[in-house]
Amino acid sequence: MKLEIIQGDITKMEVDVIVNAANCTLLGGGGVDGAIHRAAGKELLAECMTLGGCRTGEAKMTRGYKLPAKWIIHTPGPRWRGGKHGEPELLRNSYANSLRLAAEAGCRTIAFPSISTGVYRFPLADAEKISVETILNFPENTSLETAYMVCFDPVTLQAYEDAHMTLKSFE
Ligand code: ADP
Repeated sequence: MKLEIIQGDITKMEVDVIVNAANCTLLGGGGVDGAIHRAAGKELLAECMTLGGCRTGEAKMTRGYKLPAKWIIHTPGPRWRGGKHGEPELLRNSYANSLRLAAEAGCRTIAFPSISTGVYRFPLADAEKISVETILNFPENTSLETAYMVCFDPVTLQAYEDAHMTLKSFE
């Protein structure tokens, strides 16, 4: 799978599936979650209400409704509580479970936001390594061809580009 790191708004991405950095209620929130619910429309909330929430690190899929993306995968990343509460493993699970669901649905293209590095305060320098590593290590023999990391701001973009370069240089 190819990884492309770009700056932009994930709600505009023309891909098979976008990933939402949700919370455990799956009923919407601030940040990227709020932006996705606003852009997808009220029907998204109606579907989310049938899902019964989601545990941290797990993932559930809905339709994309008014988004250009056909599907949305909702995954609550971990809230940073100092790093000794399994946060790195939970963040890895959010990326891996999202990729697994996307592959099961036959998706070819997927777009991720920077999960947990907003309101959940996961340190950016650690979060990028985990996400880039998990995406690049995902098995090749699936439908997935391209993953986009969609960074909302220039600081996040720079951090992901650095992590990508470092990891590629070890390949
Ligand atoms: P979390 O609660 O998982 O930390 P946030 O939504 O607070 O989630 O932040 C996650 C990241 O998503 C942050 O880098 C934030 O700047 C970014 N973000 C916010 N809106 C969008 C958007 N429309 N597209 C892509 N990324 C976004």
